[in-house]
Amino acid sequence: MSRTTIDEHGQTRDHRGEWRSGRPVYLEPLLDFPTTPKRIFSWLFGIPGFFFPWFAVFMAIVAASYFFFTPDVHRMQTFQPGWMLEITARNLVLIFICTGGLHLWLCRWKKQGRLKKYNGSWPATNKRVFLFNDQVKDNVFWSVSGTLFWSAYECGLWWCYANDLLPYISFETNPVWFLLWMFLIPIWRNFHFYLIHRLIHWKPLYDHVHYLHHKNVNVGPWSGMAMHPVEHILYFSCMLIHLVVPSHPAHMMFNGIQTGLGPGLSHSGFDEIVLGDETSLKNDRYLHYLHHKYHTVNFGESNVPMDKWFGSLHDGTPEADDRFRAARTKA
Ligand SMILES: [Zn+2]
Ligand SMILES: [Zn+2]
Repeated sequence: MSRTTIDEHGQTRDHRGEWRSGRPVYLEPLLDFPTTPKRIFSWLFGIPGFFFPWFAVFMAIVAASYFFFTPDVHRMQTFQPGWMLEITARNLVLIFICTGGLHLWLCRWKKQGRLKKYNGSWPATNKRVFLFNDQVKDNVFWSVSGTLFWSAYECGLWWCYANDLLPYISFETNPVWFLLWMFLIPIWRNFHFYLIHRLIHWKPLYDHVHYLHHKNVNVGPWSGMAMHPVEHILYFSCMLIHLVVPSHPAHMMFNGIQTGLGPGLSHSGFDEIVLGDETSLKNDRYLHYLHHKYHTVNFGESNVPMDKWFGSLHDGTPEADDRFRAARTKA
């Protein structure tokens, strides 16, 4: 029996200082078989659920960005630095508000201490593996670099829309597909992420590209977008789906915004974000935390359970730990 300690919140931590919720990792029921209509209904409409709060929050960000912080489409018919810089500046402001805000709340101001924090430690300082010897500064540097790639994809696609080069729909002409495609984009993103993530775990690409993201074992919000530029190019290539699937520019923006800001949440390192005595936002991301811990499990996300289908799922239980260790010893 390994040594455990009780932390300042009364939580049990193992000999590495890690806390776990005690329940298996969360897989969303839409594609997780066997499922039931009841499970799917409560996943869709429960609180928290698919739509609320995170989908709604992202929709609000997309709407504000589209209506108030996107240049006039006629200006985007030619590549000019002005409108491209405006889009880049808007995306940088978004990531500093959302990911930066999450970092300030959780890791700098430590508003909830280590309550529901998977790893007992705070982001590393004085560690030579990171740029500037500082994990947060390293992560911010690479996240800003990633935002430039996100913005480049967005500018290129906006130029295509402005010149009528892409299959286009609007809410007025295709309301059903407009809404359905908005709903499907997170699923497409997770499917795409699983594929590119498996690809960059191929040893030559891991050693030269993906190693950079995996310097973060103890993840924080800024770790999510801390990637090598080649990984950013692959990661944001999910936005190229709009070259072939009939979309409105708002779909493309949602795809980019969720791909750019989602990692802040999925790498927060906290199981819940506590906002007050009675209020907390569920943020069950132990699945990806385990990927950073073990590297060879949980390549996907929770809404497309490809790890379960292909045998790489670690469900976060002690039994899965034992299975994982046995497999590693055998290998
Ligand atoms: Zn990660
Ligand atoms: Zn990885």
